[in-house]
Amino acid sequence: MKICVDRGKCQDHGQCIIAAPDIFRFDEDGTLQYEPHVDESLREAAEEASDVCPEQAITIVDE
Ligand code: SF4
Repeated sequence: MKICVDRGKCQDHGQCIIAAPDIFRFDEDGTLQYEPHVDESLREAAEEASDVCPEQAITIVDE
């Protein structure tokens, strides 16, 4: 599946990193980085991250 983060909405809060640290992280500048293509085994974590994002910036797309 594919992960999309709307950079126009993302405010680098980091809740997604707590929910899904295997997908999301901050770089050394404090900017969100993430894996755009992730294994199906991480779907639950990805959906949790999407749910907790206060900006509704995370979209999960089936490939
Ligand atoms: S929780 Fe949402 S707004 Fe915050 S860093 Fe993650 S994607 Fe961006």
